[in-house]
Amino acid sequence: MRKYDVERVDVKVVQSDRYLIKRIGDIRDWKVYCVCESNCNNGWMRDKVENLARPIMIPLIDRDRLLRGETTRLLPHQQKIIATWAVLKAMVAEFDTHSWVTTHHSQRKYLMNRLAPPARGWAVWIGPYLRVSWPTHWGSSPFLYLSPKQEARRGGSLVATFYNSHASTQVIGSLFIHVMRSPANDYIENWKFSTPDGGSVFRIWPPSDVSVSWPGTIMSDRDADYVATGLYRDLMDRVSPLIKEGIENAPARSGGAPFWRWRA
Ligand SMILES: [Zn+2]
Repeated sequence: MRKYDVERVDVKVVQSDRYLIKRIGDIRDWKVYCVCESNCNNGWMRDKVENLARPIMIPLIDRDRLLRGETTRLLPHQQKIIATWAVLKAMVAEFDTHSWVTTHHSQRKYLMNRLAPPARGWAVWIGPYLRVSWPTHWGSSPFLYLSPKQEARRGGSLVATFYNSHASTQVIGSLFIHVMRSPANDYIENWKFSTPDGGSVFRIWPPSDVSVSWPGTIMSDRDADYVATGLYRDLMDRVSPLIKEGIENAPARSGGAPFWRWRA
């Protein structure tokens, strides 16, 4: 592949932007320079995360295996390894030039020390996916969550200077990965997907003691898009009609900072 698409959705009070960023080169060579080489990239990230994830994930990534109808069972400890890998990559990708850092540094530290996703506010799904024409290889929609208390403290200001929540999607071969995080812990942890074409999307974080029978039903393009944009759609459904109208009908970018208002 010579070129690939990165999709980013920003939700702002003044405007909703869908960016399609064309990158040159192979997405597998996408490098984000934010971690140190010796201690992190060639240290614990490789030895304690990637090397453990590789043998478990390669069979899931392999399209031919999926097409041949091979099945595999993912045990709870293997699900945790995949989830840790997915969360690590999601955290690192936030440092890409086109992205937003939404994860608090204490959560990155937690992952490094415990080699597991943070205990609260994170959810990871995986599914078997055979792409037909859905273009996204990497997609991300950041937003700002404010608790009712925080919102009250802000008064009438609709301007935000940062995001603290994020949904990101990554497709590697036939493996679809979706990661959500937000300080709205329950909102994220109770999230459920019911795909339009019935494709399987297995939640592997927060952990369960149930093993996954892979692949289940292969996800369609429509299923992939439904999951990737699920959070954005739900948030748009929750905003007041006035804000929604403002987001959808706003003219060109006003220069205002990104903002998202969410109510439980
Ligand atoms: Zn480091």
